[in-house]
Amino acid sequence: MKIVELEHASLEAYGSYIGDGSVERLSSLAARLKGARIAHVNATANGGGVAEILQSTVPLYNGLGMETTWLVLEAELPFFNVTKQLHNALQGAERTFTTEDRDLYLETIRRNAQAMAADYDVVFVHDPQPAALRRLAPENDSSWIWRCHIDTSTPNGEAWSWISSLAHDYDAAIFSIPEFVGPGLAVPTIRIIPPAIDPIMPKNRPMPLGEMEKVLASHGVDLSRPFITQVSRFDPWKDPIGVIACFKQLKEVHHDLQLLLLGNFASDDPEGVVLYEQVVDVARDVPDVNIITGLTDLVNPFQALSKVVVQKSVREGFGLTVTEALWKGTPVVAGNVGGIRIQIEDGVSGFLVDSVEECVQRIDYLLTQEDERRSMGQAGRERVRSNFLIHRLLEDELNLADELLNPGQVKAITGGDR
Ligand code: UDP
Repeated sequence: MKIVELEHASLEAYGSYIGDGSVERLSSLAARLKGARIAHVNATANGGGVAEILQSTVPLYNGLGMETTWLVLEAELPFFNVTKQLHNALQGAERTFTTEDRDLYLETIRRNAQAMAADYDVVFVHDPQPAALRRLAPENDSSWIWRCHIDTSTPNGEAWSWISSLAHDYDAAIFSIPEFVGPGLAVPTIRIIPPAIDPIMPKNRPMPLGEMEKVLASHGVDLSRPFITQVSRFDPWKDPIGVIACFKQLKEVHHDLQLLLLGNFASDDPEGVVLYEQVVDVARDVPDVNIITGLTDLVNPFQALSKVVVQKSVREGFGLTVTEALWKGTPVVAGNVGGIRIQIEDGVSGFLVDSVEECVQRIDYLLTQEDERRSMGQAGRERVRSNFLIHRLLEDELNLADELLNPGQVKAITGGDR
């Protein structure tokens, strides 16, 4: 296991983004959990939403007085080939797994489990890749929580029975929406906790207009013409090829429109490079498509100044990219799937779409109705402010840790706002 070293962070840095009620509740939870040793384990330190979240929450846990470590699995490409197929199957793809696949998976986790210290009070294990850790870790008294971030609303049966048999070892499981809790999951405590974004991270905090324009221009954006953007790992579930199909139709009417496809690669996703090459190929003959890889903080101006952000996913655990764009006041047209559905109120903060045609219609509408576009953007920002900022996620996680570590104790409940 690799340890990701991060500075401690304090709630004070969040200023007015966090209401007094939240600060009080978090401080009281922190007092109850003071000194607790907590681990978060996942499969990659870079790329993808889980790494994004842990970069913000782990420093806050430490700042609040819990001794918290972020551990990343050490594994080779064949392991990630198996776990990406497991991920795909849990999102509904037809896949079968051989005994070799399962042995390779278990052997890698066994190695990582042996390298893990046994003295944590609470261990959060994120996603399917490290899920067997609970079974293979040396005997200990920790409370174990399996945190599923992916869209398990229509899982392949074999994959679900594999993952749920591993989840059964845990004291608690967390899913982002109720529809993801698959059949027959016998975990004593199940919680629904949606993810969240960090408003003070460089990628989400306000940037001066001039600076944003400079970044965009330096990446080939023509600022005199409108543009739309999708920001995503190169993953078939995010449907970048469908986005190009939409763009081709939009171009017939909006001749000056540009499409920015921002994408990155996660070290636990070996399919990324293959899809990237396909996307480049499909976009080759389409004018005004710009594919930009490797931006992290600098996705900010693209999300902020796009006319519309697109997230045309066909499965989506949550979609931080949707939250990030809404937070910047940009309406989002996105796949009517998974965790996106709790973020976008259809027709209020953007549109939920089920096909290329619908996606084209909705983007076209927003490109032509400027007042509506602006008011939807504002509604989206408010929705994120009330529901999907990082302190709410932290509070939900700490409440669960507290329930497991201090069962049956009465809590001081204070404050009303989130
Ligand atoms: N991201 C990024 N640069 C890119 C593509 C994605 O920084 O080129 C970030 C994006 O801003 C978001 C995260 O990666 O914070 C993706 O999280 P999401 O929940 O949308 O999807 P996941 O990759 O976890 O399925």
